[in-house]
Amino acid sequence: MINAEHLRQEFPILNQVINDESLVYLDNAATTQKPEAVLQTIGSYYHEDNANVHRGVHTLAERATEKYEDAREKVRQLINAKEAAEVLFTRGTTTGLNWVAQSFGDAFVQEGDEIVISYMEHHSNVVPWQQLAKRKKAVLKYVPLTKDGFLDITKARQQVTDKTVIVAITHASNVLGVINPIAELASLAHDHQAIMVVDGAQAAPHMPVDVQELDADFYAFSGHKMCGPTGIGVLYGKRNWLEQMEPVEFGGEMIDFVHPYESTWTELPWKFEAGTPNIAGGIGLGSAIDYLNKIGLTDIYRHEKELVHYVLPQLQAIDGLTIYGPADPHDHTGVIAFNLDGLHPHDVATALDMEGVAVRAGHHCAQPLLEYLDVIATVRASFYLYNTKEDADRLVEAIKVTKEFFE
Ligand code: PLP
Repeated sequence: MINAEHLRQEFPILNQVINDESLVYLDNAATTQKPEAVLQTIGSYYHEDNANVHRGVHTLAERATEKYEDAREKVRQLINAKEAAEVLFTRGTTTGLNWVAQSFGDAFVQEGDEIVISYMEHHSNVVPWQQLAKRKKAVLKYVPLTKDGFLDITKARQQVTDKTVIVAITHASNVLGVINPIAELASLAHDHQAIMVVDGAQAAPHMPVDVQELDADFYAFSGHKMCGPTGIGVLYGKRNWLEQMEPVEFGGEMIDFVHPYESTWTELPWKFEAGTPNIAGGIGLGSAIDYLNKIGLTDIYRHEKELVHYVLPQLQAIDGLTIYGPADPHDHTGVIAFNLDGLHPHDVATALDMEGVAVRAGHHCAQPLLEYLDVIATVRASFYLYNTKEDADRLVEAIKVTKEFFE
């Protein structure tokens, strides 16, 4: 079991006072805080090992390369990819999904083909497909949701047809707090010779992920949402596809030979990684993975579930508070979106900040979903491994204070 009171001591940023109250950080779906171990790894990389990777023969360059490639291997193990060559370092989930849309899209999507996404996607799993559909005159289709906020799997079975080339769905929603049945969707996609692209931004940080078990063709996630630094992320892709795809960016690092008018590409994964990579970011992500492994992703998942079981019924009991997503805590991740009757979510978030409670308000980069739900914005509280029941109490209390204040 996780001892969150103890763990939070390892996150220096959490130990501060905001508006005369101790900070309760509940904006983890946007980005997570970094433990001392990750901060130290990044610091010591710059203090002791900083050099460019892959090309130097001197000791620092060899050390930097080894640490950077070690981090790739840590990612491979984390998601159980078959080989490290299938793990591409990106800037984040958004970059990964764009790479698939551009590169796979250019190679394999034709006029009239279908791309199937859902109404609960983050903009980074919507806009790249819209653009691809426009470029290729393909058809973008949406899987609807049930009234409880689940992906409607029966409708998904109708939407995915033999014309479908890509099914791109989030593993866990950043608003509704539901987890989607990716293995089932992948099997549906594969039955129609389509590929399964997964937005793993809200899943990989919170639960064990096995890309082979899910049978995902591509799986994208971000380092900063899992205790790692910003500017680093991962795109997993099956070798078979990556080999048939062209790189999205060109330049140093990704070439084999450059002739004046023609060039050839190096092997995977570096074929996709043009230019000097985010070396400190990659090494920092490796350190974050070590940290998460030390705690255990199964325990992290259980801890968040326990918090949700504790806090959701308390929120549901508040008069005039609407929660978006399933009512049963069992079906909920640590992401809880809500509104208070008659109050603008930005006012609620500002009032909560006055109580030291950091939450997000807005459309959460999911405008098609909010349009679908017919709301303009929501407040969102999102929990992580260092959040405690006391944090949950502070959230509930701050909401009650806010309500009274505006009444
Ligand atoms: N997908 C989901 C479900 C997200 O929650 C986010 C970030 O909020 C993203 C994609 C985009 O991640 P990034 O901004 O790190 O690329």
